[in-house]
Amino acid sequence: SSDVHDPLRRAHELAARFYHHLFMNTEQGRNAFQYMENRGLTEQALLHFQIGYAPNERSSLTTLLEKREFDVQSLESGGLLQFPEDGRKAYDRFHNRVMFPLHDLQGRVIGFNGRTLHKESKPKYLNSPETELFKKNEILYGFHLAKQTVRKKDQLVLFEGCMDVISAWMAGVDHGMAALGTSLTTRQAKLIRKLTENVVLCYDGDHAGREAAFKNAQSLQSVGCNVLICPIPDGSDPDEYIQTQGHEAFRTLVYERSQSVTSFKIQSLRREKNLQREGEQRLYIEQVLEILLDIESAIDREYYLKELSFEFNLSMEALHTELNDLSRKQH
Ligand code: ATP
Ligand code: MN
Ligand code: MN
Ligand code: MN
Repeated sequence: SSDVHDPLRRAHELAARFYHHLFMNTEQGRNAFQYMENRGLTEQALLHFQIGYAPNERSSLTTLLEKREFDVQSLESGGLLQFPEDGRKAYDRFHNRVMFPLHDLQGRVIGFNGRTLHKESKPKYLNSPETELFKKNEILYGFHLAKQTVRKKDQLVLFEGCMDVISAWMAGVDHGMAALGTSLTTRQAKLIRKLTENVVLCYDGDHAGREAAFKNAQSLQSVGCNVLICPIPDGSDPDEYIQTQGHEAFRTLVYERSQSVTSFKIQSLRREKNLQREGEQRLYIEQVLEILLDIESAIDREYYLKELSFEFNLSMEALHTELNDLSRKQH
């Protein structure tokens, strides 16, 4: 073809095959393979997601590319190799990392996410840099593998990281993708909306994960998606949950315990408070009302107001008055 990115595409395909081969079949890749085995990954999963290993010697991929008669200089902006300022020889960008290939929407390799094998070395994950080929915020990890299943199930489960997607796949939740990190662009949200309108956000059970879930829920809702949040327990993430609680428990969590954004926010608030104490009760009610201010649908708002009214034996009238006061204060 006449694609100007052709050499870069071929270099990525070659790199992915090279890393995957080293990982699956060689002594060099044994540590990495064992690391992933210890994390519970089956051979089937390692093959499905084409997991690889970038060896420690930083000449490995460079040498292979030269042997296959690539013009290495022309790959300068390509993200696979590093070019020292002083004109010395190029060397591999990734080394001694487990490699997760990243694909474009058509399933062609365009970049990598590399994880260290050791807790000490930073950064934990190294991404390919943005290139003409690799634009992180235009893709979703696992898109090409899961898109048919997403259409069939008419639902998509969105995770933070590759490991979450892979563990979920092993647990039978095989309609997952990840935005690689916490933020989701409008473009990615639209991409999702084209496949389905039903999204379950399955983010880490930490502060960053919750904040991201709220923010991304808004982006998804604004392109017309129905969003549920899966309540991953505090201090855990989907992958850890699956490893410790098992496949069945995870499926139950995703399919039966996921809740609307509002319910999830209210429940998080509830866990922070001791509602036996009168002062905290009062604060809780006020904070719930603040959450309800963001709801556009009057019907939905009424539903949560009724719950409050019932639980604390307050009249709907009093709650509506309070809500109006709060709304005036905010504007
Ligand atoms: P693991 O389970 O392997 O420790 P994780 O997926 O739980 O990894 P998180 O820290 O929760 O890691 O981050 C979620 C995702 O965000 C990662 O999978 C990775 O794609 C991305 N990410 C995290 N840290 C970095 C980083 N320093 N640079 C680039 N991407 C990162
Ligand atoms: Mn996280
Ligand atoms: Mn995580
Ligand atoms: Mn994790």
